[in-house]
Amino acid sequence: MTKFAIEPPKPVTIPVSGSNAVFPVRRVYCIGRNYAAHAIEMGHDPNREPPFFFQKNANNLDPSGTFPYPANSSDVHHEAEMLVALKSGGTDIPIDRALDHVFGYGLSLDMTRRDLQGEAKKMGRPWEIGKAFERSAPCGAIHPVSSVGHPDHGKITLRVNGEPRQEGDLNQMIWKVPEMISYLSEYFELAAGDIILSGTPSGVGPVSRGDEMEVSVEGLGQLQVIVA
Ligand code: MN
Repeated sequence: MTKFAIEPPKPVTIPVSGSNAVFPVRRVYCIGRNYAAHAIEMGHDPNREPPFFFQKNANNLDPSGTFPYPANSSDVHHEAEMLVALKSGGTDIPIDRALDHVFGYGLSLDMTRRDLQGEAKKMGRPWEIGKAFERSAPCGAIHPVSSVGHPDHGKITLRVNGEPRQEGDLNQMIWKVPEMISYLSEYFELAAGDIILSGTPSGVGPVSRGDEMEVSVEGLGQLQVIVA
C-alpha cells in the first residue's frame, strides 16, 4: 500500500444527475471569447481567430450553490457557461470523433475578478489571479449524454435576483464543442475527467454579496448560486 508523506488531497467530484455515482475531475479548460457579442463587449474583434484557452484548477469547481465573494477584488463578474465533461480523451482527436469522448453536460459559472484580470492583461501577465481562485467555478450536476444528448442550440441565460443579465444561444458559439475538443487535443493530452467551460454570452457584469445568480440552459435545467 502507498504510504503518503502527507495526507493526500481529496479527489474533486461533481454529482451526476439521476445517479449516485459522482464524476471525478482531472483538469478544467476554459475558452475565452467564444460568443461574438461577448468578444465585442470586452473590446475585441469577434472574427474567427484561433481559439484560446486558460485553465482553472479542478478544486475551483464547486457544486455547493454558494459562491463566497473572493478577497482582493471589488469587481467580481458572472460568466454563465455550459460545462462539458469528458469520459475519455487522447491527442489529435478529429472533429468528427470528438463527441464520442463526452460523458455529459452541465451548468457552470466562470466567476472572474475582472479588476485583477484587467491588470494582468494590461501587463501581459497570466490570468490565473483573475480566474483560478478558490471556488471560482460554481457548477451543477452533470447530465449524461444518455439523457440529454449533445446540446448544440438552445437559450443560455443568467439572471441576478430575477433580473435578466446574460442571454445567448448555444448556436452562437464561435467554436463548437467538437472543435474545442479537437483543438485542445492538438496541444494537450485530454483524458477522462477533463472539463471544458465553453464560453459566455454577452451581458457579463458585477455581483454583490447577497445576490442570487441563476444560470439556465435549455434542456439542462437551472443552477442557483448565492453570493456570500
Ligand atoms: Mn469565461
